[in-house]
Amino acid sequence: MNTMRTPQPWLTEAKHDQLRALGLKATVPRLRIIDLLLRRAERSQHVSAEEIHDELRSAGESISLATVYRVLMQLVERGAVESHQFAGERAVFELARSGDHDHMLDINDGAILEFSDEIVRARLHQLAAEKGYEIVELELTLYVRGKGRPA
Ligand SMILES: [Zn+2]
Repeated sequence: MNTMRTPQPWLTEAKHDQLRALGLKATVPRLRIIDLLLRRAERSQHVSAEEIHDELRSAGESISLATVYRVLMQLVERGAVESHQFAGERAVFELARSGDHDHMLDINDGAILEFSDEIVRARLHQLAAEKGYEIVELELTLYVRGKGRPA
């Protein structure tokens, strides 16, 4: 979800202070989940709660899926994590960062690609303005398949 806020980028070395600034104590589950999302962010990946849970469990953390969900929701409510619900897919999560981006979902393999196009976004704002509106939230998802791939 793209909001009007400009989120603070998460920093591994500052995450304790960043959690505190959000009004959250730096608990082990919160720190582990942020670390995992930071590692994923380097590869621009989007991860489901179940994948987070599996990855932390395989790394030896004793954390329940319910806790993973609770922590993610706390971070989403505070604008520090974005969640996306693509049609037919599990909700996926990523660290919020400045700069809007949109997504393409490959319907064949579920791969999520990010893109941002200022011209497309500017045109959508213009379209809304022509109808007397301003866009308060803009999130584009293109459902795609590789060219030449069968339907
Ligand atoms: Zn994304």
